[in-house]
Amino acid sequence: MENYTINTKCVQAGYRPGNGEPRQIPIVQSTTFKYDTSEDMGKLFDLEASGYFYTRLQNPTNDYVAAKIAALEGGTAAMLTSSGQAANFFALFNICECGSHIVASSSIYGGTFNLIAVTMAKMGIEVTFVSPTASEEELNAAFKDNTRAVFGETIANPALTVLDIEKFAKAAHSHGVPLIVDNTFPTPVNCRPIEWGADIVTHSTTKYMDGHGAAVGGVIVDSGKFDWMAHADKFPGLCTPDDSYHGITYAEKFGKEGAFITKATAQLMRDFGSIQSPQNAFILNLGLESLHVRMPRHVENGQAVAEFLEKHPKVVKVNYSGLKSDPYYELGQKYLPNGGCGVVSFELKGGRDAAQKFMKGLRLAAIETHVADARTCCLNPATSTHRQMSDEQLAQAGIPAGLVRMSCGLEDKKDLIADIENALNQI
Ligand SMILES: *Cc1c(COP(=O)(O)O)cnc(C)c1O
Repeated sequence: MENYTINTKCVQAGYRPGNGEPRQIPIVQSTTFKYDTSEDMGKLFDLEASGYFYTRLQNPTNDYVAAKIAALEGGTAAMLTSSGQAANFFALFNICECGSHIVASSSIYGGTFNLIAVTMAKMGIEVTFVSPTASEEELNAAFKDNTRAVFGETIANPALTVLDIEKFAKAAHSHGVPLIVDNTFPTPVNCRPIEWGADIVTHSTTKYMDGHGAAVGGVIVDSGKFDWMAHADKFPGLCTPDDSYHGITYAEKFGKEGAFITKATAQLMRDFGSIQSPQNAFILNLGLESLHVRMPRHVENGQAVAEFLEKHPKVVKVNYSGLKSDPYYELGQKYLPNGGCGVVSFELKGGRDAAQKFMKGLRLAAIETHVADARTCCLNPATSTHRQMSDEQLAQAGIPAGLVRMSCGLEDKKDLIADIENALNQI
């Protein structure tokens, strides 16, 4: 598969049926797997042989789909998780422990912000948030002796900032730690962070990868490039023997290419059990088969809607890195030459009243706590996800009361713009 383009990999990577085997990936709807001897099974428990014994850790359906996503991102290994939240938690917790420190972009998904700032803080893991536009100097100043990872989102949900991946990777590597990038919004069709220096890539597959609003899920992809043993003092979990597997040292036994995902499976899936169901993995794969066809259409619609809104007198401001007026246009041109995604956010004159009237007036676009779906949907953070905040607090957080986040689906852009125009007339 390696020599094919990403378009072909979306359709066929990860699963190559043999003679007479099913054309579509089989859903292995089984919790467990049968063995002839306990010696055979013992080898699996010791990580001496690869194979399946219990679906809380691994399942063949999941592995076909994970292998496809690894191929799309240009990684060496991947694992599916039950949600995007689980993916980001596992990616960080696989190398952080009580007493560790994380450097993270402040412009990230609210759920991930809370995971790092509140829940992981309770585990004794500290964080320093940095602006996505931080200078090299500011970035370097955020590191401490106990820093173990740097985290950011290629295109942040919902701020739509674009991460300078090369700059963040350089800072991470000069401090001997990996860069983890959540690549949910662009998907590997529009950006492959590993090509720009990221070491680990995560996704909420719930979004464009599934793309039909059908199955919650996540994935972690390892680039296989980070040299854990060269920084063994920082990563004892990967570089010293694991007593629960007869003293295996992951980075020695599985190398740079396999250590990270093997440890996440053997320890984190074993203990936290956040695996994706094989049924959901099958649905995810149906989405992946058309990802390369859908993403250009999401971008086309997002760009058209952003350009229309920018010219409208009732709109104060539009955030979309495909617009020349956007502060992230230059970074977008570098990292997202084919466009980013279909999510656009804009501020209406007249605050939350105007936003509520506008959203009531929409016929095609639905009000949903979701993005990156075939059907266009939108949300006013001030009256939904951020409704506990006052206007002042909202302004401080950079979320004006009149802000609407619109995720442009796969409908015809003419119909979408007509729907938006009609709703704007109702304000
Ligand atoms: C939605 C989202 C998540 C969380 O994913 P779930 O599948 O909802 O758990 C994480 N990161 C980003 C960028 C997201 O958009």
